[in-house]
Amino acid sequence: MAYPLSDAALQWQRTARAFADEVLMPHEETAEFNDGELPAAVYVHHKQTAMELGFPLMDAPLSYGGLALPMLTQVVVWEQLGRVTNALSWCMSEVHAWMFEACNADQIERYILPMMQGQRRECYAITEAEAGSDNTAIASVARRVGDDYLISGEKWFVTSANKADFLFFQAVVDEGGGDGASGQHALFFMDKDSAGIEMLDNPLFGHTYSSHHPTYAFRDVRVAAANRIGAPGAGMDFTRSWFRRERLMIAARCCGAAGRLIDLASAFAQSRVVSGHPISQYQLIQAMLADSITELWAARLMTYEAAAMQDRGEDLALIHTHCSMAKLYASEMANRVADRVVQIFGGRGYMRSNPAQRFFRELRVDRIWEGTSEIQRLIIARSLLKRGVVGMIGL
Ligand SMILES: Cc1cc2nc3c(=O)[nH]c(=O)nc-3n(C[C@H](O)[C@H](O)[C@H](O)COP(=O)(O)OP(=O)(O)OC[C@H]3O[C@@H](n4cnc5c(N)ncnc54)[C@H](O)[C@@H]3O)c2cc1C
Repeated sequence: MAYPLSDAALQWQRTARAFADEVLMPHEETAEFNDGELPAAVYVHHKQTAMELGFPLMDAPLSYGGLALPMLTQVVVWEQLGRVTNALSWCMSEVHAWMFEACNADQIERYILPMMQGQRRECYAITEAEAGSDNTAIASVARRVGDDYLISGEKWFVTSANKADFLFFQAVVDEGGGDGASGQHALFFMDKDSAGIEMLDNPLFGHTYSSHHPTYAFRDVRVAAANRIGAPGAGMDFTRSWFRRERLMIAARCCGAAGRLIDLASAFAQSRVVSGHPISQYQLIQAMLADSITELWAARLMTYEAAAMQDRGEDLALIHTHCSMAKLYASEMANRVADRVVQIFGGRGYMRSNPAQRFFRELRVDRIWEGTSEIQRLIIARSLLKRGVVGMIGL
């Protein structure tokens, strides 16, 4: 046993594994060879099953009907869901604890609870042409006009916008007065059917997902002031909890993907005979398998420990750095593993029907989104220079 898990966490692990293996995985190739799409009835079945199993409620507070599961249990679940290609696990909208902290009662009622109940779907419009890693460079403006804001700008890579009916939209606020509230960044709920939204481009990406990542222009889109998340002047501190969670869950999914890849490669290596021997007997192949499982173990321990730190209520700034370390290491580990596993499969590893080939393409973006590897390194280095090794890892 690699890490001590509670009986409840092990039960969630079994449930998530069965959902991944029995419900989602059989449809991966259909999605791969159909631009990521599944027949509508299959998609509905996936979504309903995910809802019934409670996955969208894992991080929601008990007071709103959520499950408020320990972070380690949530990691265990996302690790299993990460074993599936083609983003088939994105069949549900998961609500997160930070949303209940950042939003007021009315916003929770109109946006967050319907997400939790599978009735509304969200997307995140943060990145711009000139503002990716450095989101202080965001140029979209929300200009206050009476009880509304008029929002203008351009957003790139708006994941799942083709399925969403509202956006979390980040803009710089212009309150029109000299009270100091202007120039701050704020997040808004923006309904996708608002006038003034135009899709400029819908690029193709390395993976084959039914969720697209289009580019949009926003021209004087009218959004009620009541849709602003947080009071004027309150800032956007909640984005730190958001990043912690997203980075941790990326790490979890990367561990799951690497686990499946290593299983597939081990089985193939034992059955594939070349020059009279299974290739698993060749030490160059063994080295690739050994390095892969060793690195996966390290990444998994880091990811589990970063989650357990949150469950133990440790210092948030330190947890933030540990989530960055988990994301950095696990995403780079999973990319190395995918590369080796394609190699072990030889020509068969280059076929899109092989999960190794799909993961090889899909895992690449985990080194880019929610903060690139370089940005994670900057966060980690800053923390190290401030705390020292003892402060970082107690050594
Ligand atoms: C498939 C996909 C889906 C996405 N989904 C969303 C979404 O739903 N919503 C959303 O808002 N965004 C989304 N993004 C955007 C994503 O978060 C950004 O691509 C990412 O933050 C990097 O920004 P950038 O692409 O502008 O790269 P840049 O910021 O231009 O960086 C280019 C290169 O420079 C490096 N770099 C930048 N700053 C430094 C520095 N200080 N030191 C050293 N190196 C540096 C980067 O690491 C990178 O290698 C998505 C992106 C992709 C590819």
